[in-house]
Parts: sequence; C-alpha cells; structure tokens
Amino acid sequence: MHASAQLLLSYLAELAQVTDEPGQLTRTFLSPAMRRANALVATWMRDAGLVTREDTVGNLIGRLDVPAAPRARTLLLGSHLDTVRDAGRFDGALGVLLPIVAISELRRRGVTLPFAVEVLGFSEEEGVRFASAYLGSKGYCGQLRAADLKLTDADGLSVRTALKTLAPSAKPFALPRRAHAPRDLLGYVEIHIEQGPVLDAKKLALGVVSAIAGQTRAKLAFHGRAGHAGTMPMNLRRDALGGAAEFTLAAEELAQRTPGLVATVGTMSVAPGAANVIPATAAFSLDLRHPSDVIRRSALRQLQAAAARIARRRQLTFTWTATQDNAAVTCSPALTATLTASVRALQGKTIALPSGAGHDAVVLSALTPVAMLFVRSRAGLSHHPDEFSSPADIELALQVLIDFLARLARTHTL
Ligand SMILES: [Zn+2]
Repeated sequence: MHASAQLLLSYLAELAQVTDEPGQLTRTFLSPAMRRANALVATWMRDAGLVTREDTVGNLIGRLDVPAAPRARTLLLGSHLDTVRDAGRFDGALGVLLPIVAISELRRRGVTLPFAVEVLGFSEEEGVRFASAYLGSKGYCGQLRAADLKLTDADGLSVRTALKTLAPSAKPFALPRRAHAPRDLLGYVEIHIEQGPVLDAKKLALGVVSAIAGQTRAKLAFHGRAGHAGTMPMNLRRDALGGAAEFTLAAEELAQRTPGLVATVGTMSVAPGAANVIPATAAFSLDLRHPSDVIRRSALRQLQAAAARIARRRQLTFTWTATQDNAAVTCSPALTATLTASVRALQGKTIALPSGAGHDAVVLSALTPVAMLFVRSRAGLSHHPDEFSSPADIELALQVLIDFLARLARTHTL
C-alpha cells in the first residue's frame, strides 16, 4: 500500500476516536467532540499546505490558492465531519480526509494546480442535534434562514444560541452569507461511501453518481373514533390504525411496481393507545424518493388519492402535512465525465448509479455544479459501527481523486 493511502487510513482511525460518547462514535453539531475534530483535521490540512479557517457555522475550510493566479476559480472538495449516534468511521469523514491526502500527495509530486482548491469539513449534515439536516452546508452556501436559527435541541438550546457560543463577539449575530459567488467556482466534488448495496453486489470498489434522488417527507394522520374493543361491532368501527395500515401497504405496493421509487412509513403513533380501545388516531411519517422529480411527484399524487380513498371508505378524516421537499439533483455532465474517465482508467470499468441518500452535494448544487464518487460499503451497511470500506477500495478512491485533479488541471484554462 502506498504511503499516502496509509496516511489516509491512519487519519480515519484517529478521527474515529474523537467522540462525545466514550465507547462509540458520536459527533454532533458544535459539540465538544466536533470542536476537537475541527482542531485535529485543521492540523492535517496545514500539513498538506492548506490555509485553514472556520466559518461562523463551524465549518472547517482548508484553502490552497494559486500564487501565480490570485483570481483563479476554486474547486470545492469535501463532505461532513458530524456523525449519527453510534456511527461508523467512514460516513462523511472519508470525503473530508481523502482530499486532504490527495492534495498533500500532489504537493509531494511537485504538481501545481491551475485552480484554487477548498477542502470543506461541514459541521452538520446528519440532522442529529436539531432534527434538521445540512445546517453546515446551508450556512456555507448562504441558505440558512431565520427559521433555522430558532430550531432547538433536546436541551431547549437554539441554533442561534449554539452559534453565538461558537464565536463570542460584541457584534450582533448575522446570518452567514454564501462563501463564494457562483462565477468564482469550478464545482463541488464529494466522495462518500455508497451506504447502499449496489457496488458490493456488482463487485466494484467505485461508482460515479448520476443523480441524487429527490425526496418528499410528510406527516400524515388518520382520524376515526375510539370505542370499546369488545362491544363495538366490526361494521360500525372507524378504526384509524386500519386506515394507516392500508395506506402503508398501498405505499409499499406502489414503490414495488415503480422502478427506482422507494417509499417508507418509518414512524407511527396510535391514540388513545390501549389494547382494548379502537384507535381514534394514527399519526405516521412518509418518506418518498426517486431520482426523477416527475415520477416522484406523480407517486405523491397517487398516494394522496389513495389516502383520500381509504379515508372515504372507512369513514375517517385525514391530514397530510408536507415537511420536506427536495428536488432531485442531476450531477454536472462535465465533472462527471472527467470523474468517470478517472474511474475507468484506474478500475478498468465504471458504473453510474443514483444516490438514494441525500448528501451535502444537494445543498451545494444550488451554488455550483456538483459531482460525486461512491466508495463501496460492505453489505451496504452505514450509520452503524460496523460500516466498512476496505483499505484497497479507499486507496483506489484516493488514486482516482488524484487522477481527476490532474485531468482537470490539464483541461483547465485560467
Ligand atoms: Zn454522510
């Protein structure tokens, strides 16, 4: 194994020790462990020749300028440094540490890039502390809104209060502005573990992301009438849980017959909630994703019609509250073509695959063209301590990024 790959693996191992909860890996937005992680990764960035800073939402930024061309455009590379609870060591961290090592290796080889580079370690992607994802990349892109600052964590602390403690200053707190104007950027490239089983099944280390699925989340509830489980005849019941169960199966059936569609009812609460009482209310969540917005929206309409049908037949009422609607992101054809050429050169063949999971690239796509490289996850497992990408796969990903940067440098004119 090449020394640069060994360095990357040692970085991943060391960062995995930086946690808020001993015995497992948990780093959440602006927590003490996140502060330590930023300090540690900043030392590695400086070792690679990057100039480091932290923005007002706790994102760590390492920048490499072009001394001969101070106005050169900037390529963004990165991912997130926060984790879920009891996480694996690769999700997010790989996409921050791998570019640092790639730049360090290019410097060792005496290669000067004709464009500036920023390596980004976003402070928040997983949505653990404030139940809202992408706070870090939204801050970097100038997309944080006043409503985001009012979100509170389990201790009742607001995002605004947490951010204020990050940068104690006499100045009044202001929403962060975007870090760059789009014309000053070449694009954003994110390397991430796949978190799915496709590459593992195809026996490939790497794949290039074609699009990131659009996502709809909604809170639904069916309302009926409570009643005695022993005395109320079946034909007179208005059982809210029966409606919710029927809807759940309808969503599953629609997704099964629609290629690429995934639909999940992931939470459900029933009231009054007693073994001998007919449920009056069943409140639940729906998560619907597809790489094509047209298909996702059509599925959404079909499920809304199904809910109305079920409610009518069962004499229930229902509420449907949309909580999230992210359009699908199509990756940049130009950056993706270069990335694909690098993967083909080093892996022999390549595969294009959509991402079902959201990533920082979704937010960055509003600012600049994006591309993503996926690294195989063993058995598709992630958000789990057993999450694993092999040293050989990681070394290949490192070679691909180095090759990609060299290709981009060759085709780039200042
Ligand atoms: Zn991630």
